[in-house]
Amino acid sequence: MTQPDSFDVVLTGGTVVDPDRNESYRADVGISGGKIAAIARVGGLRGRETVDCVGKLVTPGIVDSHVHVYNHVSPSSLDPDVIGVDQGVCAVVDAGSFGPQTADGFGEFIVKRAKTKVYGLCNISRNGNSVNPGEGEVLGFLSPSATAKSVEANRDWVVGVKARSSNTASGLLGAMSARLAKVAARESGVPLMVHVGHGPPTLEEICEILTAGDLITHCFHGKIGGSVTRQGEMLNAVVDAVSRGVLLDIGHGSASFAWKTGEGALRHGYKPHVISTDLHKGCIDGPTYSMVKTMSKFLHLGMSMVEVVRASSPAPARALGLGDKFGKIDVGFPANVSVIELVDRTETMYDVEKQSRDVKGVIEARYAIVDGKVHTALPDATAKPKVAA
Ligand SMILES: [Zn+2]
Repeated sequence: MTQPDSFDVVLTGGTVVDPDRNESYRADVGISGGKIAAIARVGGLRGRETVDCVGKLVTPGIVDSHVHVYNHVSPSSLDPDVIGVDQGVCAVVDAGSFGPQTADGFGEFIVKRAKTKVYGLCNISRNGNSVNPGEGEVLGFLSPSATAKSVEANRDWVVGVKARSSNTASGLLGAMSARLAKVAARESGVPLMVHVGHGPPTLEEICEILTAGDLITHCFHGKIGGSVTRQGEMLNAVVDAVSRGVLLDIGHGSASFAWKTGEGALRHGYKPHVISTDLHKGCIDGPTYSMVKTMSKFLHLGMSMVEVVRASSPAPARALGLGDKFGKIDVGFPANVSVIELVDRTETMYDVEKQSRDVKGVIEARYAIVDGKVHTALPDATAKPKVAA
């Protein structure tokens, strides 16, 4: 007599990575009704759909905390699924492509239509990210009250506030956009993410504004005045901010990750709390490419796989109030799971300053399971095609 298939989906034979317990173990994972229903010895579970995870890592669903996906509206934005489920990522967080005046459209046309779970940080500037003039350099565009109202009206998907405070984005107003964004974030009880780059304002000025749970994105950029000084020391303001509970977020992008800064920071024991891509049209074809590629760079910098997974799932999820949906593989928890593979090959990977490192061991995406539904990832576009036999 055959046993009835008792689960909707079974992920068989993979290695489950558990960042909370700091361990990895081989197991089958059974999923039913959009939740993790069982974790059992390999071969112990039967499902209507079976996903072969042998040789692969089954991780809590990956959350990319900094992307741009207001597709068709914000000029450099991408389709959320192209960088989401197609790349093994369960959730993406748009970092300020929309503002209070354009949040409604983002909810309607992006959040509701994507297969990937989409969340957002409301830009303090009314129309969100813009290049010219920078959205932070027109005082009349910056409204803490409109931003707080927008957070309130969209609590189901707006998880924080965003400001870009650097020379190109905020001009002569300096740190004003970050200061006003902090007012909105505090009113709303949500975290603030601030983009840092070329000053003014200085990183010291930004750090003064931030409190525990806020995020500095582009934390390892290679520009003057960043987290690591030209003498190779950590900037005191960053050391102080981290000790107060401020989080370091990567936001790789086209101008914001330098190998030398990452190496300098890790030498001093400063690992990023959160790994994210800042994927947009200007970096998806290199040097960023994808979340898994960005994760691979931090393996190369010396973080362990469990640390990399922690910084890519539970850390961003909990920082952004999504810890009840992402970040764990436990019975009864929502079935948001990523399946990735550490492939034994060497790839030359570039930062934004055209500096390269030969990365041995590259993470590739295999599946994103969102609320129990399995999405197969597309092949890694940069992996060399297999030679036909
Ligand atoms: Zn960005």
